[in-house]
Amino acid sequence: MLKPKTVKGAPREYLDKLFDIKKNFQRFKQKNDIFNRSIWDDKVKAKDLFVSYDITNFVPKKSKGFDQWDYAFRNASWHLTDVVGDRNFDVDGRVEGFTDYYSLRSGGAATKVELSSPEETTKRIKLAAKIFGAGMAGVCEVDDRWIYSENYNRKTKESRSLTLPKSYRYAILLIVPMDYDLSKTYPSAVSGATTGVGYSTGLTCATTLAQFITNLGYNATASLNDTGLNIPMAIQAGLGEYGRHGLLITPKFGPNIRIAKVFTDLPLSPDQPIEFGVKKFCDSCKLCSDNCPVKAIPSGAPAATPPNFSSHSGIKKWTVNAEKCFKFWVGMNTDCAICIRVCPYNKDYSKWWHRWGILFANSPFRKILLWIDKQWGFGTRKAPDEWWKEGKAAVAEEESQ
Ligand code: SF4
Ligand code: SF4
Repeated sequence: MLKPKTVKGAPREYLDKLFDIKKNFQRFKQKNDIFNRSIWDDKVKAKDLFVSYDITNFVPKKSKGFDQWDYAFRNASWHLTDVVGDRNFDVDGRVEGFTDYYSLRSGGAATKVELSSPEETTKRIKLAAKIFGAGMAGVCEVDDRWIYSENYNRKTKESRSLTLPKSYRYAILLIVPMDYDLSKTYPSAVSGATTGVGYSTGLTCATTLAQFITNLGYNATASLNDTGLNIPMAIQAGLGEYGRHGLLITPKFGPNIRIAKVFTDLPLSPDQPIEFGVKKFCDSCKLCSDNCPVKAIPSGAPAATPPNFSSHSGIKKWTVNAEKCFKFWVGMNTDCAICIRVCPYNKDYSKWWHRWGILFANSPFRKILLWIDKQWGFGTRKAPDEWWKEGKAAVAEEESQ
């Protein structure tokens, strides 16, 4: 009961049942995600949010965690992702990693490497993914339902139909852990650095892995938030379960992660979905919903009708109100993630007692764990200047050893 259970049967059918996917389910149009809506929909205003990622527009805020050190740190963490994201924008409006997949430097090898079996190949690919920066990696068969039906071009403001090559039978999902200590300071400009580092590591890991596969003579395409929805693919690839806050909860890093992926025709062995009690825990927890400052997270049962068209319809799940959430980000000039901070699954899993805790969360003792979590104030925000102070002390101690 305690250990993650591997679900038997076809992963696609498991998701059908898990989310009660309806007949009217349609692939998502990228144009409708809240970030792209801020470009074409007057109802969604980004005001100073995006420009604040350029330090020349720096305006300090009175609240702690929003001074020049904090913004300089956050914005620098996005440097690599921004450079790569911008490189083709003027030419064709592609924002690699966010509206379009990444281009690779080399087309790859002319000959295909000899493969012994899909299982052996998968083991090597997962090992390489780990070396390239992934904390976890899993494989699923590409399920077209999660691929966007259209790409959105932020320059021309036009959409074009999107179809992955049929030869891309597999997706490799890559889990990039974010920094636990920084997650305690959500929301602030300083905590935004862990998001930036998460994305740059995802970029490095996915593009490097895709280049590795093409060097083996097969085709591969690296992707971050573009091209398709990461969370359902990651569930199919056995990397975690879906939480009330609409995020993936992994058994190794909780919800404090980013996800990248590689589509490929390399023959691989897909993983099976897992369960470790998240659904039951979320049924009695609701900490994310209670602590969301704009009440964007549902407190009731999963529903098939989304709060607005920035989320899928025809799929029964907890859906965050993206309009309310994004408006809060814009007001703060940074991403929020309070829902990650307060989630009892957000723990430092390098500690054995938290590794035991996540197992006990999958047992009738879950309510006691939840009570302890609240009593001990695990989800309490750490002041950003405290984070700088403790971090500096830790560096000084390391240097003295
Ligand atoms: S990121 Fe913040 S505003 Fe958005 S859903 Fe989470 S807690 Fe709410
Ligand atoms: S905070 Fe509680 S309800 Fe929300 S996702 Fe985490 S465990 Fe589930």
